[in-house]
Amino acid sequence: MASKKKEIALQITIGNQEHWEEMLSSKGLMVVDVYQAWCGPCKTVVSLFRKIKNELGDDLLHFAVAEADSVDALENYRGKCEPTFLFYAGGELVAIVRGANAPLLQKTILNQLIAEKKVLDQGAKREVIKDEALFTKEEEEEEEEENAIMIHAEDELVPPKKSCTVAIIKPDAVAHGKTNEIIMKIQEAGFEILANEERTMTESEARDFYQHRAREEKFEELIQFMSSGPCHVLIISKSRDDEDVIPAWREFIGPTDVEIAKKEKPESLRAQYGTEVLFNAVHGSDNREQASRELAFFFPNFRKIDKTTEALHNRNLERTLALIRPEILKEKKDEILQKIREAGFSIAMQKEVMLTEEQVQEFYREHTDKDYYPALLQHMISGPVLALALVKEHAVEHWRRILGPANLAEAINKAPNSFRAEFSPKESAINQFHGSTSQEEAEIELSFFFPVEYTLATIKPDALAEHQDEILEKIQSAGFTISQVKETCLNRDMAEEFYKEHRGKPFFEQLVNYMCQGPCLMMILSKENAVEEWRKLMGPTNPAEAQTTVPESLRSKFAKSILQNAVHGSSNKTHAMEKIQFIFGDIDLEQERISQEKQMDYILPEEE
Ligand code: ATP
Ligand code: MG
Repeated sequence: MASKKKEIALQITIGNQEHWEEMLSSKGLMVVDVYQAWCGPCKTVVSLFRKIKNELGDDLLHFAVAEADSVDALENYRGKCEPTFLFYAGGELVAIVRGANAPLLQKTILNQLIAEKKVLDQGAKREVIKDEALFTKEEEEEEEEENAIMIHAEDELVPPKKSCTVAIIKPDAVAHGKTNEIIMKIQEAGFEILANEERTMTESEARDFYQHRAREEKFEELIQFMSSGPCHVLIISKSRDDEDVIPAWREFIGPTDVEIAKKEKPESLRAQYGTEVLFNAVHGSDNREQASRELAFFFPNFRKIDKTTEALHNRNLERTLALIRPEILKEKKDEILQKIREAGFSIAMQKEVMLTEEQVQEFYREHTDKDYYPALLQHMISGPVLALALVKEHAVEHWRRILGPANLAEAINKAPNSFRAEFSPKESAINQFHGSTSQEEAEIELSFFFPVEYTLATIKPDALAEHQDEILEKIQSAGFTISQVKETCLNRDMAEEFYKEHRGKPFFEQLVNYMCQGPCLMMILSKENAVEEWRKLMGPTNPAEAQTTVPESLRSKFAKSILQNAVHGSSNKTHAMEKIQFIFGDIDLEQERISQEKQMDYILPEEE
C-alpha cells in the first residue's frame, strides 16, 4: 500500500520509443530494468534499488522500467526469460547485468556512478560498451545465464516474522453494513490484513471461544449475540515491523464499554460503530497467549504454515507451487524434474494426484467463467497431475519467469526457451504448467495439495535405547511438530494388533517379539504431507537398500536389519488415524481432520 507508491516513484516507466529517447537525454546514470510483458518488471530488486538510492541520495542516479515489446530500441531484448538491467549514461550503454544478482547490481551501480561523475566533473572519457550477447553465439548466452545465479546479500529484503492478532468484526457491525468501512479504516491506520473470513459462529463455537468469560453475568447474552449472524474474522499485523500489533489493535478499537469509549476515545472503532456494551462492533485478543489460541481456533493451519515459511525466510528462501499437467507428465517427467533442479530449485515435496472435477473447480475457482475453462478442466482430469513444492530464493518469480507466458502462442513466439514453449505439444491449447503468482497464493495453493497431516511415528525399542536423541533431533530439524508423545511398552496383544496387517507373514512372530522387547516411543507427528514425508525420512524398510538409495535416512543410519529397523511410520492417512487412535485413544484430531479434508481429499495413484 504505502510501499507501492514509493515503488512507482522510484522507477520511471518507459512506455514507448519516445519515452526511451527522453530517458537517453537525462543527466547521470540510468538503470533500466528491461522486462517482458508476461512476467512484469523484476520485483525482487526494488528494495535493493531503494536502499542504494536512500543511502547515496544521489541526484545523478535514476531507475526505470521498460517493456521490451513497446520500445523499438529494445527489439533485440524481446522474448528473453531472465531479468536484464541496462545501464545508460549520457545516452550511451555503459554496463549490463543479467539476472537479479543483487551484489553484482550493487557493485555495478556504484562503479558506474563514480565513473560517470568523473566524466561530468573531470571530463574523463566515458567507457561505452556493446551488448555482446546480442551478437554472439547462443552457447555464450547460455553460459552467462548459468553464471547469473540469484544471490541475496540484503537481509532486509526478507520480511521478518510479524506478530499477529485475531480481530473480529462482530455480527452487529456486519449486519449494519459497516464491514467495508471498518476494513478501510483498519488499513488506513497501518494494519495489514493477512486473512479475512466471513463466518457465522455456531452457539457451541461461541461458547468455546468465550469460555474464559463463562462465569460472567451476561455470558448467555454474549453467546446469543455472537452467534446471531455472520461476522468477519481477520488476522491482522502491523505494517511496520517494530510495532507490536496486539496493544496497537486494542488501542485502536478502544474500551470495551461503548459509552466509555465514546467519552474517552471518540476516535476508536467501538466509539464509532458500537451501539451498546455488548454490541461493541469489534473484538481484539488481549495478549499474545490469547492471540495464538484464537488463531488456532479460527485458522488451525495458520501457525503451522507460518512456521515453515519462517524457517525458509531465515535462510532467504521462498517456496512456490508448481503443477505439471497430465499430457506431458508420463513422457517428460524426468527431463522436466532434471531441468527444474538445474535451474537451482530444490523440490521440497512432490505428489502425483488424480484430481476430481470438484477439486479442479475448487482450485481454479477464479477461472470457471473463462472461455478456456472447459478445456482446462477436461485436461486436468485426464490423468495424474504432478504437484511440486519448489524452494529457492524468490521461487515464485523465478518459476514464473522460467515458465514463460501463459498463452501458448505468445510463449512460442516471444519466449521459445521457456518451459511452456518447449514442453507443450504444439497441437495442445492448454499450457502444461502452473505456477503461483504471489507468496500468499503459493501458501494457499501448497496447503491445497499438501495439507497439514498427522501420522504415527514410533522409535522401536533398540533404537530408543541407543539413538533416541539423534532421532528426535532429526525429526525436529526436518520440520515436524511432535504433537503428542508417550513411551509405551507394548504387550504381545498390543504388538499383534499394532502390526495386524502382517499377521500370517513369515516374520510376524519375530516382529512381535522385537516390538515387545522394551519400551517404544510413540509420537504423533504433524507437518504438511506428514505421512509421506515421515516415510521419506525413515527410508526403505531394508537398511541395506536405505544405505544405497537414501543414505541420509534414519534407517540407513540407525537400523540393524530389515527386522530391527529402528523406526515405524504409518503407510497412509487411514492407517495413521487408526494407529493414532489405537495408541493415543480418542484425542481431538477429529476436528483437525475434518478441516484438512475440507481442503482436499486426494485419490492417490497406485504407488510402486
Ligand atoms: P513399518 O510398518 O514398521 O513402518 P514398513 O512399512 O517400512 O515398516 P512393513 O512392510 O510394514 O514395512 O513391515 C513392518 C515391519 O516388519 C518392518 O518395519 C520390519 O520391522 C518388519 N519386516 C518387514 N519385512 C521383513 C522381513 N522380510 N524380514 C523381517 N522383518 C521384516
Ligand atoms: Mg508398514
